[in-house]
Amino acid sequence: MAVRYQLFINNEWVDPKDGAWFDSLDPFSGEAWAQIPRATAADVDLAVQAAAAALNGPWGRMSASDRGMLLYKLGQLIEQHAERLSEIECLDNGKLKSEVSGQVRYMAKYFYYYGGLADKIQGAVIPMDKPKVFNFTRYEPMGVVATITPWNSSLLLTAWKLAPALCAGNTVVAKPSEHTSASLFELAKLFEVAGFPPGVFNVITGFGAEAGEPLVTHPLVARVAFTGGDAGGKRVNMLAAAHFKRVSLELGGKSPHIVFDDANLDRAANGVITGIFSAGGQTCMAGSRLLLQESIHDRFVDKLISIAGKAKLGNPRDADVQVGPVATKPQFDKIVEYFGIARDEGAQCVLGGRSRSGAGFGAGQFVEPTIFTGVHNGMRIAQEEVFGPVLAVIKFKDEADAVRIGNDIRFGLAAGIWTQSLHRALFMSERLKAGTVWVNNYRSTSYTTPFGGFKHSGIGREGGMEAVKEYLEVKSVWMSSDLDMPDPFIRKY
Ligand code: NAD
Repeated sequence: MAVRYQLFINNEWVDPKDGAWFDSLDPFSGEAWAQIPRATAADVDLAVQAAAAALNGPWGRMSASDRGMLLYKLGQLIEQHAERLSEIECLDNGKLKSEVSGQVRYMAKYFYYYGGLADKIQGAVIPMDKPKVFNFTRYEPMGVVATITPWNSSLLLTAWKLAPALCAGNTVVAKPSEHTSASLFELAKLFEVAGFPPGVFNVITGFGAEAGEPLVTHPLVARVAFTGGDAGGKRVNMLAAAHFKRVSLELGGKSPHIVFDDANLDRAANGVITGIFSAGGQTCMAGSRLLLQESIHDRFVDKLISIAGKAKLGNPRDADVQVGPVATKPQFDKIVEYFGIARDEGAQCVLGGRSRSGAGFGAGQFVEPTIFTGVHNGMRIAQEEVFGPVLAVIKFKDEADAVRIGNDIRFGLAAGIWTQSLHRALFMSERLKAGTVWVNNYRSTSYTTPFGGFKHSGIGREGGMEAVKEYLEVKSVWMSSDLDMPDPFIRKY
């Protein structure tokens, strides 16, 4: 029997107004395991009204220290319930249980970090250029924040927004992907246990047009934090612009992973594999364009094949499995289509390039780790985000060539560099147009440092001190101590 979830609004569990639910599928077995409420504008309105009311209720009156303590408590509950949360996330997105368990435990730290930060948000006394005036700045919450997230890491990507938004004193209405909604309901249960006042955190589920758009356009939503694909991001940005809402967008990538001839090639090979094959390549920061210096090309590709060719595919809940199923059927079809696109463009498939089914592969939603060589940066396989375990290998001559190819793309989310030369590492990290540059490591993230994209990869940053400011308005307060009568018509400069 599939579990039937309800919407979480104002600390209450309620049925969707239209009385409709849709199935959530386990990507491994293909079976429907949960029923998710299909919310529409009426449900969105209830949730946003509750979130707006909470700003003027106990939450709005709570001291920043107490707010921080609640976030801290939530972090502890997440750690205590990490096993359950990661089981649910795996059931929905098919990611390896071994990775998601660690991810959920790490997610708790976002709530510790932003819990600690809550009472350290300080304005400043500004030295003024004018006499007899005292000026200070104060930071204020924006109001109701809408978070909209994709299917690859529903909990973590929501936490990246939720923790700084609540730290800043806002309230939140969260809309997860229609493919992976259940884990946010499980998180909502922990909000109840932690003792958050009603309306501070609300969960609305459903589809982009039916639930996402009414949320973005709702007059009481002040701030939209979106992670997802290009098309959704563009639409959300346009809708929000019509109402001058504050927006952050975390979008796609086609990140260059650059290996120089002086690199420790064994470590670099492992880093490249992590960059593209872990999480089945279904991460925005995947190092999907491998730029190899000409002299090491063949040797390095052989190393990759020897490691990736042995990857164990299978049930993501098995501890020894290294590559799980593709999270959704449309995504599976898209990856398989790119196998054909790359071959038609003249790229050589030197590993994988096939889907897998049969015993041990559940419903058969699997693709093999795949490597294409002979790729030119102008090809679609080099320019478009596949969002799967598919690596496009491109040769380069020297630093200047690597910078040119690396930046010749509309995305700018991340880049990786493998070299033992400090000079090369600095030269490259200064010139690559990307929000994150990893040197001799890849795919590391932390709550302490900003993450986000240049160019089409997004607007704004998540993580670190930068993120909390993205959920605050700054106000400049002028106080006069002038006892003289001012001229009513002429302003003095
Ligand atoms: P998607 O854009 O299809 O969906 C993302 C979310 O937006 C979902 O909740 C969806 O329901 C909602 N949505 C879609 N259209 C909408 C609309 N018109 N109005 C309001 N909401 C709408 O993306 P996806 O397929 O779920 O995720 C994959 C994409 O996410 C990839 O492109 C990937 O690169 C990107 N991503 C980016 C990051 C990052 O941090 N930069 C992280 C993970 C994923």
